[in-house]
Amino acid sequence: MELPADSHVHSEYSWDAATDPVSVGLMRRTCERACRIGLSTLIFTEHLDFEDHWRAEPADLDPHERKLIDATGHVRLPAFDLTGYLESIDRCRHTFPELRILTGVEFGQPHLWDGAAADIIGSGEINRVNGSLHMLPYGDTDRAEPITLYRNQDPTEVMSAYLEEIPRMVAGSDTFAVFTHIDYAVRTWPTDTAGPFEPSVIAANFPEAAAMLEHFGFRAGTEPEDFWAR
Ligand SMILES: [Zn+2]
Repeated sequence: MELPADSHVHSEYSWDAATDPVSVGLMRRTCERACRIGLSTLIFTEHLDFEDHWRAEPADLDPHERKLIDATGHVRLPAFDLTGYLESIDRCRHTFPELRILTGVEFGQPHLWDGAAADIIGSGEINRVNGSLHMLPYGDTDRAEPITLYRNQDPTEVMSAYLEEIPRMVAGSDTFAVFTHIDYAVRTWPTDTAGPFEPSVIAANFPEAAAMLEHFGFRAGTEPEDFWAR
């Protein structure tokens, strides 16, 4: 049986990995590992983020990422190095000819940043665009990740707000092919203060979210576990 492609992979060209010293050579090492375990295809979907009002506290980020927080409490992200990334992809294709290596991005909040991303996504160099929803409105002008919002707002309301933003993101951009990690807000659910994450509390919103995805052209596959696609 052939393993499916790993279509959501980050390398040292993603800002979160790039700030971590252990990420040196990560793309090459990931290719080595893919060959070792018999994976035929990798898609390096690097973070493509333009958010310039991202509020975070040091505890919300991994230690190596905290240097990106400025004096105003905003995270200042470095620009995606498309040229360096493509050169690295090219080197890996030569080094691992048996591996199928595709290009991609994980584009954060595409419904807000399509214009800023147009040059990169329209460059003809990007094979796959994963769309991700990492941040929600916070205060009058800022945005924040669920981990930050959970500390400052009612966690159930944060989760509901996350789900409500999904159809807005889908309706607001045609740029991305995959809505990636729809469970993002579950990852940092504050079990310590709010108890275990209990889906039934907000389950009423899931059929609504699914109906909205359907409305915008996403369809279930033949098997229930297949990804919804459009
Ligand atoms: Zn993500």
